[in-house]
Amino acid sequence: MIILHVAIPAPLQGSFDYLAPAHVDARQVWIGTRVRVPFGRRQVVGIVIGTATESRIERGRLKAAREVLDDAPVVPADLLAVTRWASDYYHHPLGEVLATALPVSLRNGQAAESPPLQQWRLTEAGRALSLAALKRAPRQAALWTLLHAHPAGLTAEALTAHHPRWRQTLRPLIEQEWVEMAELRLARASPRVAARESTLQLNADQAEAVRTLTELPDQYQAHLLEGVTGSGKTEVYLRLIEQVVSRGRQALVLVPEIALTPQLVARFRARFDAPLAVLHSGLSDKERLQAWIMARDGTAPIVLGTRSAVFTPLKHPGAILIDEEHDGSFKQQDGFRYHARDVAVWRARHLHIPIVLGSATPSLESLHNVAQGRYRLLHLPERAGAAQAPTLRVLDVRKTPLTGNLSAPLLAAIGAHLHAGNQVLLFLNRRGFAPTLLCHDCGWVAKCRRCDAHLTYHHGSRRLRCHHCGAEAPLDTSCPACNGDDLRPLGHGTERVETLLQERFPDYPVARIDRDSTRRKGALESLFDSALRGEYRILLGTQMLAKGHHLPGVTLAAILDADQGLFGVDFRGPERMAQLITQVAGRAGRGDKPGEVIIQTHHPDHPLLHVLLTRGYREFAAAALAERHEAQFPPYAHLALLRAEATGRDEPGRFLSAAAQAAPAGASVELLGPVPAPMEKRAGRYRAQLLIQAASRAPLHRFLETWLPALAALPLARKVRWSIDVDPMEML
Ligand code: ADP
Ligand code: ZN
Ligand code: ZN
Repeated sequence: MIILHVAIPAPLQGSFDYLAPAHVDARQVWIGTRVRVPFGRRQVVGIVIGTATESRIERGRLKAAREVLDDAPVVPADLLAVTRWASDYYHHPLGEVLATALPVSLRNGQAAESPPLQQWRLTEAGRALSLAALKRAPRQAALWTLLHAHPAGLTAEALTAHHPRWRQTLRPLIEQEWVEMAELRLARASPRVAARESTLQLNADQAEAVRTLTELPDQYQAHLLEGVTGSGKTEVYLRLIEQVVSRGRQALVLVPEIALTPQLVARFRARFDAPLAVLHSGLSDKERLQAWIMARDGTAPIVLGTRSAVFTPLKHPGAILIDEEHDGSFKQQDGFRYHARDVAVWRARHLHIPIVLGSATPSLESLHNVAQGRYRLLHLPERAGAAQAPTLRVLDVRKTPLTGNLSAPLLAAIGAHLHAGNQVLLFLNRRGFAPTLLCHDCGWVAKCRRCDAHLTYHHGSRRLRCHHCGAEAPLDTSCPACNGDDLRPLGHGTERVETLLQERFPDYPVARIDRDSTRRKGALESLFDSALRGEYRILLGTQMLAKGHHLPGVTLAAILDADQGLFGVDFRGPERMAQLITQVAGRAGRGDKPGEVIIQTHHPDHPLLHVLLTRGYREFAAAALAERHEAQFPPYAHLALLRAEATGRDEPGRFLSAAAQAAPAGASVELLGPVPAPMEKRAGRYRAQLLIQAASRAPLHRFLETWLPALAALPLARKVRWSIDVDPMEML
């Protein structure tokens, strides 16, 4: 008798035992194939993760799988290995981890074959056309020129890289029968890869980095590529990838959510004439399956994606690259809480391939790993090419008159850079018009009913919005408490600063870039494109503006409020602030003209801020690590956070107290709490947390292994929602 161990996407640890379907020879059911099985009252798709000859369940009660969905494994051994590890490490059910790793259509039981690739190309009539025929339709003419240069046709994704709104433009061309859609099936054979030679001569530091990265291609080694903004990290990545694909291997490239833009994809396409598998959250199910299968079958030598792409199967793995490794978007903050960087490092080790983590502002964890000799450091201390490091000026704004939150010297500098014909970039990490709305007559403040938070006033929509739960209300003209009509916005968000700037510099158009102004698909891209063309002279925005984009026209970058994040409850606050400040500063002077950076602060003497501003990120990191060491925070200790939430105020705390009581005696971990979450009420639920701290990883994991299963049996476990977060990145 052969028993199938099946992983099922359900919040339960472990796998489930089934028999093979009656007419199927169980010996033919491979590990990694999908089966449809009865589960409770439902039927679900599970993955066979092992087989055995005995079961803990008695024979008569074992159920048979209904159907085997694949005749070959869908989940290759390498992917099964990494998901198993992640399931153990993050103490999350394997079935759910596998669900994260698989495209939706495979999860639903659809065929694991790649759907045909759709490509658009010119028809004969279309090719015969002359450009003059389209001279009154410049967008169509541009698209025609592009298609003319690619006789075999272009995929939707390739078209998007050049023309974000190509579908609209293409429609009339299709109606005229000048363009047609063709469906291709990709051959399984390895594709021809041609890397176009770069015209750049690497500088000595880049050459050294490339040499180190490529010297032992069949061995695991983690590298930290620390290079100031504009130092040519991307060029180093491209050279490494060139080497990898020239050996017939695949490169997996992970980037932060916000950095995966058509511009980046276009840069890769320009360099490599090879199929690119691009994976991000904006894909349709079909596109995602396509890209996944191209990676799995080795037809795509380069796989480029955001967080969850770390679970993409690779037929011929050659190297893993993570750009902006410090970025918070690599950590999933709900459900299966994993850190893609850490998963990637494990995976590279398992696959015996090199991995490179790149950043201008490496995470303290990675710097610590360098200090411990676990990662090798590659350093690019200078900007590549002709660009110079910007000059930095700290403006102590205490007691100085402000226009909104703009000091006179900053306004003067903005004016000077604009008059000189340049662009300025202003960073403020707060969207909306004002973070608080106050009644001047009675002191009433607009608060969210479902959260412990103020409502933000949005002027454009004339609404109050909660940035924590999304609740919205129209703006009343009078105070709900006293009926007075003197309601005043307090504080400054991007919307308000935009208004101030427009009043002050009426001749210079302002682009505001934040989550509100970029909600529409493609809006962020078109704002950046217009900025690149110089249509906007002032760029004002939140984190979205701080990352990734190369805007050579910007000569002044300013941080309007460097103090945000210095005094928060999260011990990672200063690290995040330092990274943001450094990234924003790196936006200035990336072209031929020298750059200037201005930083407004009320706390020029804050020790960490002071070190950052006078001596740079490296020294800041050393000081911040010393503080972490002192306080026994990561990376000098290892944490897990047990969170609980419920509609009743007391339940989360009571559950966590019972959980703490249930801790096995003698474990070498410390339990801190329970305490209410820093924002206790959020989206109508009360939240509390219990911190588990250990000096090293092994005892932490041993503890969680025995403790977590016991929690499910606690009487309160069904009254609260609870979850475990291993290596939590946010203490909220
Ligand atoms: P990073 O990724 O470190 O911010 P990039 O790779 O985007 O830096 O490079 C910044 C700019 O410098 C780009 O315009 C790039 O073409 C240019 N660059 C990179 N390496 C060199 C080099 N060796 N010589 C001249 N210019 C270079
Ligand atoms: Zn009032
Ligand atoms: Zn709210």
